[in-house]
Amino acid sequence: MKCALTVAGFDPIGGAGIQADLKVFKKYGVHGLSVLTAITAQNTSNVDYIEAISINFFKRQLNTLLNDIKPDSIKTGMLFSSDLIKSLKDVILSYNLKNLVIDPVIVSSSGKKLIEDRAIDILREELFPIAKVITPNIYEATLFTGLNIYSKSDLYKASIIFKDMGPEIIIITGGHFKESEDIKSEKAIDLFFDGNKYHEIDSVRYPGEYHGTGCTFSAAITANLALGHPPLESVKYAKDLMQSAIKDAYYPGKGMAILNV
Ligand code: PLP
Repeated sequence: MKCALTVAGFDPIGGAGIQADLKVFKKYGVHGLSVLTAITAQNTSNVDYIEAISINFFKRQLNTLLNDIKPDSIKTGMLFSSDLIKSLKDVILSYNLKNLVIDPVIVSSSGKKLIEDRAIDILREELFPIAKVITPNIYEATLFTGLNIYSKSDLYKASIIFKDMGPEIIIITGGHFKESEDIKSEKAIDLFFDGNKYHEIDSVRYPGEYHGTGCTFSAAITANLALGHPPLESVKYAKDLMQSAIKDAYYPGKGMAILNV
């Protein structure tokens, strides 16, 4: 059985973070490994509190696991601090891990910062250059590229700027475009760029706020890479999963919907 590793935060709701990632891995028949970066107190309305795992324990989780099992792919979610990011990079290089997918998590849908401000540059400098795929959403693309993204042509410009930061493939997810912006609201368009070719991948847009979309999408790409699918196919399969998971989303609490993976 193929194995995928998620390096991410703990979500008590079970809709984002490692819980979401493991559900997605299982869905594709890929064995899921997980290493925790941080624990959170949150519900479907609010991320209340975050506590990072100590660096010592973080490294210990990784080394103990990787001395035994080599994953076929690896994804990162909430990485929280510069020290966690730097330690992870060292481990990825020393174990020669391939198929790194980075979901550059910055802020939760409910508005809580999930990474320290000073760690944002470190994420870009340390991990983007060794990434197979990065999956920024519109908000993250704006923050990393400095561009205001209002239109489809802005997505193209942003992906060129991202390419210079070193990742092999960029997929900017368009699901967060506001209705007032000029990408039409009935479609959610993602832009895939590998440095040579662009592919627009679109799907129906369902209105509303959903918890765990970024985690679920990037985990689906990671699982498909573990299975040996090429990146573009992996992204298309991930997009198909997102469509059905959003269509059948449900409300376990009083706030956001959870994807039905
Ligand atoms: N909590 C954890 C542990 C996460 O990893 C993430 C996203 O990466 C979130 C919360 C935020 O999820 P969302 O913004 O989809 O609500």
